[in-house]
Amino acid sequence: MSKLTTETVLSVHHWTDTLFTFTCTRDAALRFENGQFTMVGLEVDGKPLIRAYSMASANYEEHLEFLSIKVQDGPLTSRLQHLKVGDKVLIGKKPTGTLMADNLLPGKTLWLLSTGTGLAPFMSIIKDPDIYDRYEKVVLTHTCRFVDELAYKEFISEDLRNHEYLGEIVREKLVYYPTVTREAFDNKGRITDLIETKKLFEDLNVPPFSLENDRVMLCGSPHMLRDTRELLDGLGFKEGSNNEPGHYVIEKAFVG
Ligand SMILES: Cc1cc2nc3c(=O)[nH]c(=O)nc-3n(C[C@H](O)[C@H](O)[C@H](O)COP(=O)(O)OP(=O)(O)OC[C@H]3O[C@@H](n4cnc5c(N)ncnc54)[C@H](O)[C@@H]3O)c2cc1C
Repeated sequence: MSKLTTETVLSVHHWTDTLFTFTCTRDAALRFENGQFTMVGLEVDGKPLIRAYSMASANYEEHLEFLSIKVQDGPLTSRLQHLKVGDKVLIGKKPTGTLMADNLLPGKTLWLLSTGTGLAPFMSIIKDPDIYDRYEKVVLTHTCRFVDELAYKEFISEDLRNHEYLGEIVREKLVYYPTVTREAFDNKGRITDLIETKKLFEDLNVPPFSLENDRVMLCGSPHMLRDTRELLDGLGFKEGSNNEPGHYVIEKAFVG
């Protein structure tokens, strides 16, 4: 039996010339946890060409949503970036991953630290009502080079706060902290620098990371993951996994 279902593209939105979002139909049998990824791709020359993709849609939503890079000579995304409504895409039947609430020990503040398309799994997590039951505060940081790469900025800072069911809890608990590295913006700099200099905590008026209170999910470039992991390990944080919960969990946004 195939490990993939064939779904139909329902919408495509281009954020920049390197970043786009698409939605597609969802197989009725597909189950996943918010924060997980699955295989996504196209049939090319009669064979599936697939890559790992995080779901940006929440697990209760009717359709699937993905946030994608466009790599000009990338085998998949050189093609995927030309998707049109009505096109067919292949979706893996077995989502997996480590960015799951159960992989973290209980805590007070959940930090979701992302760069680039590493935002995608956190888009599903910030739409999960259960996450707001587990934590007093949820802080989402998204770092990109340029302001127009801050995908979903308006959705997170406006639409989600006015959401019919989630709006109230989001306004109470979700803090969004976008930062850019290469042009002027309210928040500027790499997230690791902002943590090290404590600017992040000062800006948000919260205490720095503590083993007792803070839990962290990381999804970003190999560089960002390496530096942040070092920083957290230095504070005594232990990495969690599907076998044993810890103080932080990591997922690669891509393989470098
Ligand atoms: C667990 C996991 C989850 C992923 N989730 C997503 C996702 O939600 N959205 C997404 O766009 N990609 C995601 N990726 C990356 C994705 O699997 C592919 O690498 C990407 O779609 C490019 O495919 P490609 O065949 O065009 O090029 P590839 O041959 O796969 O990649 C070529 C090169 O492009 C660069 N690259 C690839 N992906 C990215 C990226 N996302 N951001 C910046 N540079 C990149 C890398 O340097 C890579 O070596 C994920 C990867 C992993 C391992």
